[in-house]
Amino acid sequence: MFRRQAPNSASPQAACVIGAGISGASTARALAELGWQVTVIDSGHFGASSLPLGLISPHTSKDDGALSQLSRIGMERMHVAMRTYLIEGVDWAPSGVTTYPRTGPVSAAITTWHPDAAWIKPSALTRALLDHPNIQVVRNQRVDALHLDSNTKSWQVQSSGLHLAQAEHVVLAAGPGCLDLCAGVIQQYASVLTPPFDAIRGQVSWGLMAQTTHAPMPSSPINGRGSFVPHVPTPEGEAWFLGSTYDRTHPHMGVTEEDHTFNLNRLAELFPETAKALAPVFDKSVRGWVGVRCTLHDRLPLMGSVSEAPAGLWINSAMGSRGLTLGLLCSEILVAQMTGHPSPVEDHLIRAISSHRFAEKARTKMQRQ
Ligand SMILES: Cc1cc2nc3c(=O)[nH]c(=O)nc-3n(C[C@H](O)[C@H](O)[C@H](O)COP(=O)(O)OP(=O)(O)OC[C@H]3O[C@@H](n4cnc5c(N)ncnc54)[C@H](O)[C@@H]3O)c2cc1C
Repeated sequence: MFRRQAPNSASPQAACVIGAGISGASTARALAELGWQVTVIDSGHFGASSLPLGLISPHTSKDDGALSQLSRIGMERMHVAMRTYLIEGVDWAPSGVTTYPRTGPVSAAITTWHPDAAWIKPSALTRALLDHPNIQVVRNQRVDALHLDSNTKSWQVQSSGLHLAQAEHVVLAAGPGCLDLCAGVIQQYASVLTPPFDAIRGQVSWGLMAQTTHAPMPSSPINGRGSFVPHVPTPEGEAWFLGSTYDRTHPHMGVTEEDHTFNLNRLAELFPETAKALAPVFDKSVRGWVGVRCTLHDRLPLMGSVSEAPAGLWINSAMGSRGLTLGLLCSEILVAQMTGHPSPVEDHLIRAISSHRFAEKARTKMQRQ
């Protein structure tokens, strides 16, 4: 599904990708398909892509801005990937989604039906993407230092003084962890122009359908004012998934009762009878998952070479609440830049997610002062 080698592109090299979520796994796969040797290193710490279930759905906006345009192209890429790598009805389903407006009274809410939306189990996709002979995966290692060896022009990747990998190219796909890694490298060379990431905690609540046989269920997954997806097959039987909280301040990474209650109360606003039928499960056996969304204040991903850093250091991160829709596309755009292939999207979309946009704005501001 990824682009094949073009005649004038750079010859295959070695890369180290830090982070094995959707951004890292799809970057690694795109490079591996081009003949690159790729080492992927992951700390195994609260990666958002270990989310048990997520929705792929388009972003819509009145001005049809960059996020909306990217989300449409991103969905096309995801549909190809899901059909290529996953089992329909087990790992994903083309379920469609009914979207509610985020705010306003429920009684007056005008919903939108997105027939091309889907649910997906993201771990199934990251596993499949990483399964390639040119990809080596190193798990449970937290990268804490990156050094450029000026003799070999290759990056040394380390954890607690231990050498993990060496490569001409390093891709930071470590979610909020990218910031520390960038800051460490950039401090060695120049001023810090990396934008601050927000780490936004989110909790999902879920349970088995068999525990709530008489619960009236919406006829399709819903999204917008929280999400609810019923009838998802799991090894234990069909399940429902209800999410998610959105919390910029909560540092706690454990599942909390408070957040379960928040999720249930929000469902009650839209589907009071469903919430009433699920309430006993919340008292006894509801399950939870917590992760962190990595986001920037303009809500767009950050993709490209790292500003102010020496050549060969790249970033693919800040997917916010839409990494499952945008992750593959951003990786394809990044790999086109790394290898000299034509971009799969128009220039104005690349500028919107460029890793240089904040540094350029900061420079312009400094020049004006
Ligand atoms: C509750 C919740 C619900 C969501 N729902 C949806 C949804 O319905 N639809 C959607 O599109 N998106 C959704 N998202 C967002 C989506 O999950 C993310 O945008 C996406 O998974 C981000 O992928 P990523 O690969 O960029 O980052 P991650 O998946 O976070 O991967 C980063 C990886 O880097 C590793 N790492 C970090 N630091 C280091 C280090 N120093 N060394 C080595 N490894 C490191 C981490 O262990 C992690 O595995 C949701 C997120 C949350 C939290």
